[in-house]
Amino acid sequence: MNILVTGGAGFIGSALCRHLAADPHHRVVNVDKLTYAGNLASLHAVANRPNYRFVRADIADKPILHDLMREEKITRIIHLAAESHVDRSIDGPSAFMETNVLGTFQLLEAALAHWRGLSGPDAAGFRFHHVSTDEVFGDLPFDTSLFTEDTPYAPSSPYSASKAASDHLVRAWHHTYGLPVTLSNCSNNYGPFHFPEKLIPLTILNALDEMPLPVYGKGDNVRDWLFVDDHVRALALVVEKGDTGRSYNIGGNAERTNLAVVETICEILDRKAPRRGGAPYRDLITFVADRPGHDRRYAMDASRLERELGWRPQESFETGLARTVDWYLENQWWWEPIRAGTYAGERLGQMASAR
Ligand code: NAD
Repeated sequence: MNILVTGGAGFIGSALCRHLAADPHHRVVNVDKLTYAGNLASLHAVANRPNYRFVRADIADKPILHDLMREEKITRIIHLAAESHVDRSIDGPSAFMETNVLGTFQLLEAALAHWRGLSGPDAAGFRFHHVSTDEVFGDLPFDTSLFTEDTPYAPSSPYSASKAASDHLVRAWHHTYGLPVTLSNCSNNYGPFHFPEKLIPLTILNALDEMPLPVYGKGDNVRDWLFVDDHVRALALVVEKGDTGRSYNIGGNAERTNLAVVETICEILDRKAPRRGGAPYRDLITFVADRPGHDRRYAMDASRLERELGWRPQESFETGLARTVDWYLENQWWWEPIRAGTYAGERLGQMASAR
């Protein structure tokens, strides 16, 4: 398969490129604009492989994308490029609309033109897979209810609204123009190479730097956590075997409050990298003003993916989190330049009242 991955220098996209390029039968073309979250250092394991190519481009640049699809004889597109941080979408929504909504529109137009130029098995086997989030479904109460693929969309933040818009565009290009698409909506990911503004890497690295560990509100918001490589395996499966026009929920069946996540990281670090003086890391936990419009709970019913395509997560939250902490302890070379440069460990998303 000749696969175009968008956003392949980001957290999930780089894990996907590493996974796909490990198979010499695939050709992987990674298109990424390299915004603040894109990092080619995450791709050092595949950068020199003959079946991997990186192209720096904006998904909104339809002519470049269309030419590239033709040149590389692309038969699969896996679309991850996005602005992805809810807090940044509160402070500055424009980039989210430009990339997530208008960028997806231009990419769909390029893909449609390319697909229409294909024939035979290439045309029949062509897929555009859109990677989306559980956040499009909105807010669940603190009970046992789950999001299914049929849950109505009710996005709360500029980020989730932009992702919901892009999901609608992808479905519309399928229904109106026949573009063969699949979609997936996944819960919160964590793992290696995660940009250190997100809760789990932020907590690990702030703790190691003896900085406050900021927790929104009372820390009782619940997210369903999935190790990134489990997400990547799900994506590869949906792209290979998913039914056209169908969407698949992906989740870790690992609901935790934000406070429980932070406390668990503190306990792991107490064992693996104790503080000088012996005080527990949890003493660094600091409750800060809640994120505006903060959804209470997300939880996914991933039974369609399990039943129809045979997917199961391989990591439990405990094993995946321990692996993640180990990775940050061992890979300072990756995160230190980011902490020293663009991002120093503060929480974003506090600017809404000033807008
Ligand atoms: P990320 O922010 O780490 O990476 C996004 C990548 O997209 C970056 O490399 C960035 O440079 C690139 N990009 C941004 N704008 C671009 C543009 N206009 N053209 C080309 N490239 C551009 O994000 P992530 O966490 O890896 O998420 C990837 C996708 O998965 C997103 O679509 C996100 O909505 C979705 N998702 C993420 C999670 C999660 O927990 N991280 C969960 C569910 C779904």
